[in-house]
Amino acid sequence: MYDLEEPRLIHEIKRRSAHRVLLQLPEGLKPLAAGLAERLQNATGSEVLVSGDPCYGACDLALQQKKQVKADLLIHVGHAEIPSESPGDQVVYVEARSDEKVVGPLAEALKLLKNEKNIGLAASVQHMHLLKSAKETLERAGKTVWIGRPSGRLLHEGQVLGCDYSTALSVASNVDAFLVIAGGDFHALGVSLATGKRTIVVDPYQQTVRDAAGLVDKILRQRYATILKFKETRKVGIIIGLKSGQANLTLARRLKTLLEETGKTCALVISTELVPQSIESFTDLEGFVEVACPRISIDDRSCYHKPMVNPEEALIAIGKKSWEDYGKHTEEAWDRTPAAADAAAP
Ligand code: SF4
Repeated sequence: MYDLEEPRLIHEIKRRSAHRVLLQLPEGLKPLAAGLAERLQNATGSEVLVSGDPCYGACDLALQQKKQVKADLLIHVGHAEIPSESPGDQVVYVEARSDEKVVGPLAEALKLLKNEKNIGLAASVQHMHLLKSAKETLERAGKTVWIGRPSGRLLHEGQVLGCDYSTALSVASNVDAFLVIAGGDFHALGVSLATGKRTIVVDPYQQTVRDAAGLVDKILRQRYATILKFKETRKVGIIIGLKSGQANLTLARRLKTLLEETGKTCALVISTELVPQSIESFTDLEGFVEVACPRISIDDRSCYHKPMVNPEEALIAIGKKSWEDYGKHTEEAWDRTPAAADAAAP
């Protein structure tokens, strides 16, 4: 179950006298969309439309759709606001906190962490509210707990995002290991790569605990193989994601220059939705760099038959970043500041 904060939404719609509202949810929460739309409509008298397009993060706000249907308000469900890219008052965020508990998994995690004293805590946004009780549990077991302050794209203390692990990085020098509360392995993988620390993932949905080390080794081997294949390519497509918080033409242009200095030729390709079949239709291109979301090249790797790398991996392929620093943030590899987005305008 998720907290959709309906009383607050009703208040926000009424406060703005919104006649038309657009509701946007990620795939996992779309089953809740029709019911939520009906309840908001009945409670406020506003017309509530639901976006049917895929949605992956708060970088993917349906602002264009909002404009097209002349909605007064966009309600974006399932992600926290990205402070560095705030769209202002036209969007209301619902983080959709999960009511899953992690008492049992935390007890198991403590067994795995018996040799580590200083523990860094992090969570994805659906489970942020569990950090306080998790900290108390760890402290009762004699651990010293570190939770990083937010910066960049992150709103909350201890929050992690697939494209921003700065909270974990800010405390990494103090900790022996991280404990990440999140569904799936992706965030633990990111924390482990970014910090180089042992990382344990507590999954509230599966009620499981695991050490991310095995996964990290497997992904690293896959990424290294893909980077080697990309290194051999001569004609490359640099795909620039056009979602609201992704468009970074400045970074794409910088990559084009760097790649062409090594003898490759590059085409800049823009894409609102990165669909593998469309990308594969560029049969003359031998490989791709996606300047969109770092999850695409890793999560969706099996969808692409040609090497698909992210900007950091492209830099490693051409010797501008070392493989040993893979996952460590540098401005060159992943510059997503508002200034970069502004500069993306032609
Ligand atoms: S770029 Fe990717 S990881 Fe970052 S907010 Fe968007 S969907 Fe999430």
